[in-house]
Amino acid sequence: MSAAHSNAEDHAHKDHTTVRPWRAIQRRKSRKIRVGAIEVGGDAPITVQSMTNTLTADAAATIDQIRQLEEAGADIVRVSCPDEDSTKAFKAIAKASKVPLVADIHFHYKRGIEAAVAGAACLRINPGNIGSPDRVREVIAAARDHGCSMRIGVNAGSLERDLLEKYGEPCPDAMVESALRHAAILQDHDFHEFKISVKASDVFMTVAAYNLLAEAIDCPLHLGITEAGALRTGTVKSSIGMGNLLWAGIGDTIRVSLAADPVEEIKVGFDLLKSLGLRHRGVNIIACPSCARQGFNVIKTVEALEARLAHIAQPMSLSIIGCVVNGPGEALMTDLGFTGGGKGAGMVYVAGRPDHKIDNERMVDHIVELVEARAAELAAVTVAEAAE
Ligand code: SF4
Repeated sequence: MSAAHSNAEDHAHKDHTTVRPWRAIQRRKSRKIRVGAIEVGGDAPITVQSMTNTLTADAAATIDQIRQLEEAGADIVRVSCPDEDSTKAFKAIAKASKVPLVADIHFHYKRGIEAAVAGAACLRINPGNIGSPDRVREVIAAARDHGCSMRIGVNAGSLERDLLEKYGEPCPDAMVESALRHAAILQDHDFHEFKISVKASDVFMTVAAYNLLAEAIDCPLHLGITEAGALRTGTVKSSIGMGNLLWAGIGDTIRVSLAADPVEEIKVGFDLLKSLGLRHRGVNIIACPSCARQGFNVIKTVEALEARLAHIAQPMSLSIIGCVVNGPGEALMTDLGFTGGGKGAGMVYVAGRPDHKIDNERMVDHIVELVEARAAELAAVTVAEAAE
């Protein structure tokens, strides 16, 4: 392996545009905004978000969950502020959080102002729902004064009554019209630091709405399939909907909504981006499904490696393949590889080449050591590059 790059990084940066043009994704050109220190839109990496599900008023529990999300790689975390107790706790939460926080407000304009004062980096609020023009002005002024951006979040399930009457039922056109109305309010106040989401639980409606919106406005787009479902079904649904959009170059920040531990949302979000080569974090394990030819227990091994390598943030690829039918070929494309062989041992591949043999029983520990060493090497290169 070269010192500065892993195969995973090479695939991300070079192959997409030159060597393997069929992998290229042309991202829609969006305006860049900031959510605290994080850039969203333009050429910024697509960010991965989740949302806490603790009581916000319980600052300690919320901070604890934010920590877990940070460790999983979350770039941005959203925190609900349904009442004054929540915005009161928000100050301590924002202070303790390493990632920028989005305060989820909905209707209560005062909560929006309180959250901006308390350190929110972004307000999730629909200006058309705030009420009188004075209230709208106050919220926008608070956002401006405290360096908050905003997210307009249109949901097919809560469209304005006049739009439902006009269109007969929730549909992509109604969602986009609603989004553009809210956006016009911000634009009329010369406020342009906003992103938009147009979510529905229906994959077709969501994809159609985002496609329309992407043509209609240049702000960054926050992708999501709302109420997607439990871990497995929600992941499948989100992957179809968001995968379709991301593949078409649409989307600047994503949230996978799952009825599951929020940490899973971050993991699935990164897996989605990894699958499309849009972002790389951690070890991308390529594994065969296994069959009677396997030289070791592939499924158990991959489970063990996934758990033991979850702490690795550096992008790296690892192939764990049961036998020589596909092992050497997959190893060619990965930073590290293991292919099962006979007599209780297999071959370790480094940078695509057979390197040495290892016994099956020692293999997991050995691969973990190799990955950790490689991660430390990549981290040192990053630090050295930053110091240059
Ligand atoms: S790589 Fe080998 S063990 Fe794995 S599924 Fe294919 S034939 Fe079976």
